[in-house]
Amino acid sequence: MVANAGRCADNQALVLPAALIAGTTFSAGSEVRSPVCNASTGETIGWQQHASAELVDRAVHAAHDALIAWRHTTPAARGKLLRKIAELLEADRARLCAMQMQVSGKPPFEADLDVSDAIATFIYYAGLCEDASVFAADSVAVPDATLLAERMHEPVGVCALIVPWNFPMVTTAWKLAPALAAGCTVVIKPSELTSPVEHMLAGIVSESGVPDGVVNVVNGGGEVGAWLTTHPLVDKISFTGSTASGRKVMQAAAEDMKRITLELGGKSALIVREDADVTHAVSLAVGGAFTNAGQMCSVTSRILVHDNLYRKFMAAFETAVRAIVVGPPQVADAAMGPLISAAQRARVAALVAQGVEAGAQVAFAGQLDPACADGFFMAPMVVAEPAADNVLWTDEVFGPVACVKSFRSDDEAISLANDTRYGLVATVVTNNESAARRYKAQLRAGLVWVNTPQLIFPQVCWGGLGLSGIGRELGVAGLRSYQEMRHTVGLRSGSLPAGL
Ligand code: NAD
Repeated sequence: MVANAGRCADNQALVLPAALIAGTTFSAGSEVRSPVCNASTGETIGWQQHASAELVDRAVHAAHDALIAWRHTTPAARGKLLRKIAELLEADRARLCAMQMQVSGKPPFEADLDVSDAIATFIYYAGLCEDASVFAADSVAVPDATLLAERMHEPVGVCALIVPWNFPMVTTAWKLAPALAAGCTVVIKPSELTSPVEHMLAGIVSESGVPDGVVNVVNGGGEVGAWLTTHPLVDKISFTGSTASGRKVMQAAAEDMKRITLELGGKSALIVREDADVTHAVSLAVGGAFTNAGQMCSVTSRILVHDNLYRKFMAAFETAVRAIVVGPPQVADAAMGPLISAAQRARVAALVAQGVEAGAQVAFAGQLDPACADGFFMAPMVVAEPAADNVLWTDEVFGPVACVKSFRSDDEAISLANDTRYGLVATVVTNNESAARRYKAQLRAGLVWVNTPQLIFPQVCWGGLGLSGIGRELGVAGLRSYQEMRHTVGLRSGSLPAGL
């Protein structure tokens, strides 16, 4: 059993095994080992061994061996286990939050939200498992009364779940809960920057009674992920990460026609119409741009404000951004944490330098608390009226940098918002219902929020258009993405031709 995997006593350095396979921890992996850092102090708090190709192969075989028994458990039995996982997550909430804060430096309320999101996801898919109609074969009407046509949903098989570092427990829960509900077995490949969180989750899954081999974890970076995506026994890859890596995953999947779900990057818009309440719009703009220090696929960093409201909005936005308390989780009122690593901060700083070199003007920026000296912190900043081809306006920055542009008409706002090859989300702030309807219809995004913060429910599907990915997570579609649809067509009994 791996119940305590990824856990360590307080003040003891974390040492993560290279893999958790069928209930056994494997300490020795490849030659590669990488540090686990505390993003808000820059300290190394532990080490992880990366898995070797041989361990990846073992993990996939373990998932493959466990598949036959697991896929034949009843949905109700699987639902019971998912509910148990949710209960164990709730019981371990404080430790899970502490780990998120220790590794990613998330403020306490953000760490807590992540745990709540993971719990809600397991509860939702437990509920679907308890609904027999979701799994039962259903009949399909065909224009011949002598025929019976039926549709069935069956588990895809062995799934590789590859996740990034920005919401580690959440992105994993969005894949793991529906995969288990569907009757699939999995190998999880966490980001090497935040893997302790997935190890805790794997420990909880094991404690819940999910049989050994159903959930396996391999540690490492892109190389380990690539071994998974090319393994012939992997039937499906569910990948969340950058569009650049997503392309490689899609190419790797093509060889065996593996099923894929790709949740990739974004460059989303928040539109403030002339009739919007400025205080509300500013609050949504701050949340959309600076939650998780801007390290969100759904960040709305392209803020479009009606010309008549622009000055008023910018004045209030400046006050709000300057008031953001940036600091480690221990700082009271900290609302924004650090970036995940020194490399990520350097990447964001380089993009800002490139944008400024090309003419972008930083209108205002926030402050860093003195407690930020050693971590990977960066003050939030706002760029005013960048050119349409400025890198800060066109590219995913994945840091606390927002751009604001003014517009004069709904046509112009919609055209500016849609002028990107991404299409993940959008937010509209307006008090005009018919305008809201038009934006909902015409914004090219997988999810459009109207006058709300970025509310995410497990019932509502998540996923983007264009370069933001392929497929949907969450909702019933999230379950279906771990199932193959099959049909049968046959003569109804009593309809056999005479003599047969
Ligand atoms: P990344 O693409 O560098 O890595 C993501 C994961 O893929 C990591 O586990 C990494 O080790 C692995 N990986 C890298 N190359 C691989 C390859 N060739 N084959 C298989 N696996 C590979 O992304 P990141 O920097 O960890 O995360 C940030 C990105 O994730 C951003 O672009 C963000 O928009 C995106 N993201 C998207 C969503 C969404 O739901 N659409 C959610 C969160 C993050």
